[in-house]
Amino acid sequence: MDVPPPPQGFQGRNIRRGIDEGYDGAIYQYAYSSYRDEELIQPRAVIYPTDDSDVFKAIDYATEYKLGIAIRTGGHSFCGSSSTNGYNLQLDLSQTYTDFTWDNADHTQVTLGVSITLSKLQSKLRRKKRFIPTGQCSYVNLGGHLQTGGYGQLTRSFGLLADYVQKIRIITANPPEARWIDRNVAEDKELFRAILGGSPGNFGVVTDVTLKVLKDEDHPLSRGFRCLFPYKEETLKKLLDVLVAQDDDDDTPGDYDFIISLLSKREEEEDRPAAVIVIYAQWANLKGSGQGYKSTFFDKIREAGGGREHMLPFHDILLDDEQMAMSELCSHWVFDMVREYQLPYFKRLYLSNSRSTDLKEKDWSIWAAKRVQAVEGNIKDGLYIAGQFQYCGGNQSRLRVKDRDNLTSLSWRDSNFGSTMDVFYDYPGDPKQRKAFRSKPESKESRDALAKVKKAAKEWVEQNDKEGVDEQRFTKQDRRMMWGSHDLDLVAARQFYYDHEPHKYNELSALKQQLDPNCIFTANRFSIGPHPPRLIQQKVSLADVIDY
Ligand SMILES: Cc1cc2nc3c(=O)[nH]c(=O)nc-3n(C[C@H](O)[C@H](O)[C@H](O)COP(=O)(O)OP(=O)(O)OC[C@H]3O[C@@H](n4cnc5c(N)ncnc54)[C@H](O)[C@@H]3O)c2cc1C
Repeated sequence: MDVPPPPQGFQGRNIRRGIDEGYDGAIYQYAYSSYRDEELIQPRAVIYPTDDSDVFKAIDYATEYKLGIAIRTGGHSFCGSSSTNGYNLQLDLSQTYTDFTWDNADHTQVTLGVSITLSKLQSKLRRKKRFIPTGQCSYVNLGGHLQTGGYGQLTRSFGLLADYVQKIRIITANPPEARWIDRNVAEDKELFRAILGGSPGNFGVVTDVTLKVLKDEDHPLSRGFRCLFPYKEETLKKLLDVLVAQDDDDDTPGDYDFIISLLSKREEEEDRPAAVIVIYAQWANLKGSGQGYKSTFFDKIREAGGGREHMLPFHDILLDDEQMAMSELCSHWVFDMVREYQLPYFKRLYLSNSRSTDLKEKDWSIWAAKRVQAVEGNIKDGLYIAGQFQYCGGNQSRLRVKDRDNLTSLSWRDSNFGSTMDVFYDYPGDPKQRKAFRSKPESKESRDALAKVKKAAKEWVEQNDKEGVDEQRFTKQDRRMMWGSHDLDLVAARQFYYDHEPHKYNELSALKQQLDPNCIFTANRFSIGPHPPRLIQQKVSLADVIDY
């Protein structure tokens, strides 16, 4: 392949590898800590379009030189799917599409640009006493999030963010044009469905979206429970038992959402001795003002955690079964941290089609708590867990009920439980030893120490995979989610990400070929196929790329 000339002529910033200053900062994103060394996050240039015209210029350039464009808005893809390497470009939309307009006097519909964080979106809605389901990371952006679904604290009670999308504005490559796609227009439905969960970033550049939003006043009695319990293996097990028992009744009301998170102690948090269990639980008052409420469920959580005397505020907020408007509650369901740890990680997220009877038979709660303890019992080993467990099943779950019209491609909506068991790794030892390793990162001693911890982290997740998935302790079927992928090649792992295999995948792939025959929007392997030959090399060493 001839070396394409450096991209130029954009109105917006264009930071080119090997030419412009600020390249290292420009390519940074969440996955950088894990994939930097594999050279997967090294676009030839990061382009910050000022408006559509720059996007079209990037498409023209990529078409002329047969390159790919990776699209990034918030950069929160765990597997780095919003970045690229080789000669391919990265389009950064974090500042490009920022309009925000209420569409009606009642403030139940809003049209906005995708360059917005979840916490900003929520606070804009809260000002009008409105809310919408979203995920739990403040700094995730709407651009990727609406395409990966938006799973979070409201999943059982209200469904997914994607379920509230009415219209999407997208710039496609073939033809190169911007257009609105409407869920109510028959000829738009195929693309509408594809954008929402089909393969984020691979159908075109999403610029704006119209969302229906929900009113606080329809749920006037909603209640929340948020606290921290100091981690103990037994406490975690008891809380997991409460979570599993939610599935004993097929008709557990849709009002209940319950997420148990686990965070190892971070180095800078000198004031707490060990890991913490963070509890977010909610009763949504789906039927409105006349609905009766019993505190039984929150009582069970409190008791499993060891009682009121063990409940501590999480980041200064403690809610002990408090009545509160939904939009206010939503502000308490996001984690106000840029990332869990400034460290590389191995990601693992699975959904489960097992029922509570299966999990009890397999002693899942005992097993999961023991797997956590295997790390927490050895805190000098340099491993840190970010775990999360959720019940999302039952006949009343909006995860199930909301997509009856089949207007998203999001898979596994009949799942019952979710489990995240991510592990991050750092130099081992006490803070003084770690500091010594960090001061000489290139020394053999430091490199060997880190390699050993990385191996231990990998073994930990792989044992979880073997026991939790292959041996069905957690799920009878291997079900993965695009929002929390640990795979780098979507085609190779497609049966884990798409239900109705091969039908759904094949339909989406056919649409991709029609809209993007030159695979302009395929710039890495976490993309729906077919993959262009230029992606065959997963690891492109910069030494092999002739830079300009
Ligand atoms: C710490 C952390 C916590 C998270 N918590 C949750 C959670 O609770 N619930 C949940 O559902 N998800 C969660 N996520 C996952 C996150 O929601 C998804 O990765 C989401 O897609 C990120 O969007 P982004 O724009 O920030 O990321 P990006 O990395 O920029 O984009 C993610 C994907 O979308 C594509 N994309 C981005 N913008 C556009 C666009 N404008 N047009 C076309 N394609 C685009 C990218 O190419 C990429 O494939 C979390 C992620 C992190 C890192």
